[in-house]
Amino acid sequence: MRLLLVEDDVMIGEAVLDLLRGEGYAVDWVKDGELADKVLQEQSYDLLLLDLGLPKCDGVTVLERLRARKDRVPVLIATARDALSERVQGLDKGADDYIIKPYEFDELLARIRALLRRASGRAEPTYEHMGVSIDPVTREVHAHGQPVVLSAREWSVLELLLARPGMVLSRKQLEDKIYSWRDDVSSNAVEVYIHGLRKKLGADLIENVRGVGYMIPRGKS
Ligand code: CA
Repeated sequence: MRLLLVEDDVMIGEAVLDLLRGEGYAVDWVKDGELADKVLQEQSYDLLLLDLGLPKCDGVTVLERLRARKDRVPVLIATARDALSERVQGLDKGADDYIIKPYEFDELLARIRALLRRASGRAEPTYEHMGVSIDPVTREVHAHGQPVVLSAREWSVLELLLARPGMVLSRKQLEDKIYSWRDDVSSNAVEVYIHGLRKKLGADLIENVRGVGYMIPRGKS
C-alpha cells in the first residue's frame, strides 16, 4: 500500500516516515500544501496522512480540491489538541478520520489500518480468501492453516491483490503501490514476487490475465 505523508514539521515527518516504512508501506513525503495538491493529481495513493497547518496552501484547501476532483482516497487528518473547529471543518470537507497531535504511533498505525480496511470493504481485520489469510497487524500469513513466510514486497503484492478479489491490477499499478519515489524499480520485479507467491501459496491463487495484469479470482472465500 502506498501512502502520502503531508507534514511540514521535519522532525515529525522523519519519525513518521521511518515508522510507516518500517511497517512495510511505500511512503512519499511532501512538506507543503501546494506540492501535496500537485502530487495528488499525478499519483494514486491508498491513503493520505494530512497535516492541516501547512505552508503555501493549508490542508483543508488540499482536501477540498481533492474531493472536488472526486478522488476517494482515504484521508486521515492530523490536528492540534485545541483545534476543534479545524477538526470539524476537516471532517466536513471530506476527511475520513482525524488524529490529535502529538499522537502515539500505535494509535496512528491502528487508524491507518482501520481506514485501509474500510476502503477495501472489509469489516474484519484480517483478509481471508481461498484458504489464504493475512493479518495486517501481525503480518502473519497462513495458507490452508500453515504459516508461510513472505518477503516484504511479496506481502505488499499479496495484500493489494487480496484487498480486491476479482480486480485485475497491471504490473504498473502494482509497481505504483509497492514503491515510493526513493525506491529503484527493477524491470521484472513484480513477476518475481508473483512467482514467489505462487510457489509459497499455491499456483492457482493468482491468475495472470494475459496482456492486462494479475488478479486473485473472486471465488469462494
Ligand atoms: Ca504543520
